Formats: sequence, C-alpha cells, structure tokens
Amino acid sequence: MRIILFGAPGVGKGTQAKILSSKLNIPHISTGDILRSAIEKKTHLGIEAKKLMDKGELVPDEIMVGIIRDTLKEERSKNGFILDGFPRTVAQAKELDRLLTELNMNPKKIVAVTTDEKEIIKRLTNRKACKNCNYILPLDEIKDNSCPNCGAKDSLYQRSDDKEEVIKKRLEIFNSTTKPVLDYYNENDKVIYVEGTGKIEEISERILSKLT
Ligand code: ADP
Ligand code: ZN
Repeated sequence: MRIILFGAPGVGKGTQAKILSSKLNIPHISTGDILRSAIEKKTHLGIEAKKLMDKGELVPDEIMVGIIRDTLKEERSKNGFILDGFPRTVAQAKELDRLLTELNMNPKKIVAVTTDEKEIIKRLTNRKACKNCNYILPLDEIKDNSCPNCGAKDSLYQRSDDKEEVIKKRLEIFNSTTKPVLDYYNENDKVIYVEGTGKIEEISERILSKLT
C-alpha cells in the first residue's frame, strides 16, 4: 500500500506514520526526519536546510523532489510506503504524481489528519523528540529525559522549530502553501479524512479501518 499522510505540523502524522508502518509492514518516509538526519551529519544539504527549518520555512521544491525520487527508488520502497511531510506544495504534489507514474507506483491513498489550530499549538509547544529514534512525546510523559520507545538515555530534546514564533510561521505556511495540496488531490483522488483528536491508538484504528 502507498499512503500519503497529510496534515498540519503537530497533528500527529509522524506518530501515526510509525504505528502504520509497523502494522502494515511498509517503510515510514519522513522528509522532516531525512532533513534532520542531514543536519546531524552536517552535510551540505543539512547546513542549508537548517537555516530554513529554524525559521519555519520550506526547503525548496527541487531539493525535496530529488530526495523523494532517490528514496522511492530504493529497494525498501518497492512494496509500498507511508509518506509523511511530502508533498507540502502543489508543485511537489504534481512532481510526485509524475514520479509515481514513471516508477509504476500507482494507485495511492491520501489520508488527511485533521485537528484544530489551538490543539496544534498546544502539542507543538509541549513536546520533545528522541535524537536516536525520532519518537515524539508530550513533556508531561517525560521522566528522566530518556526515551520510552528505544530506551536511549538522555536523548530527548526540544526541536529548534518548536518555538512559538517558528510555530506561527509553520502554521502560516501550512495554511497558505500546503493546504492547497488537498484541493489538488480532491480533483483527482479520493481523500480519506480522519479526525486527529483523541487517543493515539484510537486514531490509528480510525485510519486503519478507513484504509481497508
Ligand atoms: P512538521 O510536520 O511537524 O512541521 P516535519 O518534521 O515534517 O515537521 O518538517 C520540519 C521542517 O522540514 C519543515 O518545517 C520544513 O522546513 C522542512 N520540510 C520537511 N518536509 C518538507 C517538504 N516536503 N518541503 C519543504 N520543506 C520540508
Ligand atoms: Zn528513542
């Protein structure tokens, strides 16, 4: 199954993508994680991307399309995948359609996770991520800054783009530039809408029941 997981920053795409990835046994491809790993390794891409990400801005389409092209050509993408964080612009969505056709990777399912903006701001300002496995958890579930998912010690950190001013910018860009991607998909594909408020497991169940 090829799934495109769509939603605002902080809606829980990453969390849901990881669960779906293990239940459906297909890889989770997160462009945010790919970029953060480039930052960690201090590659040219990472250094350039960090400047934009820290301001809440998008990395240019050509770069992101190149990353996705390489990733979808990898062996692990052969039997399906969950895309998280891509496409984020209509231009990216169009390129992705072209790429999927070229690679004989149709059809796909588009899942849009929704929730209101207040909840999003609350979640983004109250979370930390694991440096080791990218797991995300709310501050009130953190005990000794070690990761409940992979067990790494002192591995939790607040993402540099989870600061209030940057969050505002990310939401602005989501509304102006990323939301139109859904209108684009609504023209040709069926978009599956899933309400993203509630318990993590309930939301995964909702998604899974609508996928099959
Ligand atoms: P979130 O969904 O919580 O905003 P991500 O981890 O998906 O976070 O992305 C973090 C940042 O990485 C984005 O704000 C953006 O700067 C960059 N980024 C990720 N995916 C893309 C993309 N498809 N196009 C452009 N920039 C991207
Ligand atoms: Zn971890």
